[in-house]
Amino acid sequence: MTINIYTHTIGLRHDTGPGHPESPARLQTLLDLFDEMGLDTIVAREADLQWIARAHPMRYIDALQDAIPDRGTILLDNDTVLSPASFDAALYAAGAVCQAVEDMAAGKATRAFCAMRPPGHHAEPEEAMGFCLFNNIFVGALHAQTLGLKRVAIVDFDVHHGNGSDVMARLHDDIFYASTHQWPLFPNTGGPDDSVPGRVLNVQLAAGDGSDAFRAAYRDRVFPALHAFKPDLIMISAGFDAHRDDPLAQINLGEDDFEWVTGELCALADQYAGGKVVSVLEGGYDLPALKSCAAAHIRALSNYFK
Ligand SMILES: [Zn+2]
Repeated sequence: MTINIYTHTIGLRHDTGPGHPESPARLQTLLDLFDEMGLDTIVAREADLQWIARAHPMRYIDALQDAIPDRGTILLDNDTVLSPASFDAALYAAGAVCQAVEDMAAGKATRAFCAMRPPGHHAEPEEAMGFCLFNNIFVGALHAQTLGLKRVAIVDFDVHHGNGSDVMARLHDDIFYASTHQWPLFPNTGGPDDSVPGRVLNVQLAAGDGSDAFRAAYRDRVFPALHAFKPDLIMISAGFDAHRDDPLAQINLGEDDFEWVTGELCALADQYAGGKVVSVLEGGYDLPALKSCAAAHIRALSNYFK
């Protein structure tokens, strides 16, 4: 079974400064994993600005480009950093998702994993935040719609609520966003009663929750909503920071939980979407856990075919 893995070493040059959890070492860890697993990778291409402009107004894109420093780093907020290569890295991060979607629409791929940074799910239409510059997965979802994959489900198991994806799903038709996340926790959105039937489903987990609560959230809430939505494409915001070893949150998942949820999503994709699943890296800040969880995720993407 094959999985297309899209990546680019420009992600190693997005410099967030010393001690930052969203570090180049995260991508290097995954590049090492692909080598160890004997997986070939596809060199990602950059996104056209017009593709990004479907999700973010051009004035935001221009302002971000203008803010790029010639040297060193600057802070956009307490934890979102720009370095000289950051704009280009962000173009390639969004581009990788568009490329995966194009290959899927052309029948050249069924399962894809985009291993890029910076991540994207916190980026709102006109605000970079939470380490995110462009909302990579949403740019890809909107690109998919132009290629005939009209109904796109984005499932976000990153431990943080993807506020940017949530906001965008309320603005764009036929894109369904479902998130499980620790709550309250940064960015403190996606609380109870903050869902829109058919557009946004937010399921909260409490600090200290583990496998049972996580799997129940999917079985009881997310999977039924996906059956009702009947997507043409399933996209995954694959953050691995709900792992028990992650330093930024207090959810206690293991590798097997990521393998399980991925396999179940692949089965749903087999039922409705011709098997098409595009997974996009979001968070995950304990490097050994990131590696083992990504390995489990890739195993599930590769194995759960009809
Ligand atoms: Zn996260």
